[in-house]
Formats: sequence, C-alpha cells, structure tokens
Amino acid sequence: MKKILSIVLAGALVVLAGGIVFAADAGYVASKGGEKYHYVTCPVAKKITADKLVKFVTPEEAVKAGYSACKTCNPPPTADALVVTKSGGKYHKQSCKMVGNMATENKLYYKDAVAAEKDGYKPCAVCFKK
Ligand SMILES: [Zn+2]
Ligand SMILES: [Zn+2]
Repeated sequence: MKKILSIVLAGALVVLAGGIVFAADAGYVASKGGEKYHYVTCPVAKKITADKLVKFVTPEEAVKAGYSACKTCNPPPTADALVVTKSGGKYHKQSCKMVGNMATENKLYYKDAVAAEKDGYKPCAVCFKK
C-alpha cells in the first residue's frame, strides 16, 4: 500500500514540475499549419493536438513565424506592447495588475507610449509610477 502511494506521489510531482517548466518556457502557442497564435491558456489553443503544437516564448516569435493574433484570447503583438481597454483612458504595461481584470475582448495593444498618447490614453498611475 505504501509503495502504491509513493508511485502516485512521484507521478503528481512530475506533472507539477512539467507544468511549471511549460509555463516558464512558452507563453504562446500555435497550431502547425494554422493561422493564429494564442495564449497557452486559450480554449482554442487547448484543442491543438500535441503533434501540431508550436510553442513560442514571445509573441514576436509567433508573428515572425507568420501567425497572427487569435481573436478569442487576444494575445499581444509584442512582449512589451502596452495595453488599453476600449473604454478606459489609461495605458498599462502587460505586467500591471489592472490588466488581469480587463475583459479579453476589450483589450487593445499599442506598440509604445507615443502611439497610445496619440489616441488620447494616459499612463496608468500604478504601473508607470516613478
Ligand atoms: Zn486563442
Ligand atoms: Zn497599469
């Protein structure tokens, strides 16, 4: 009985470690022969079979490989693109905690602050605090 338990435990640890490595390695995925790239968490991405899965650390790599952003999960075009909501007046870094609360379909991306400010957005006080 003890032996069985330790085998189960070891199995769980392998799964756990695999998950962590995967999250650190690839933030974005695409399907071989497909057109779109996704966040790894996208429901569409989860349907891609293992033999067709292509992984990318940054969105730039996916774009360079010829993929465009998925409309469902709305991934950024570049790793340092700024995020705004269609209704909001502020622009944010992708790492900002406010971004986590945004609805996927409302997110828009700007390549830099100059571009965002041209459209009337102002820097977020949380992520652009000096
Ligand atoms: Zn997607
Ligand atoms: Zn912010």
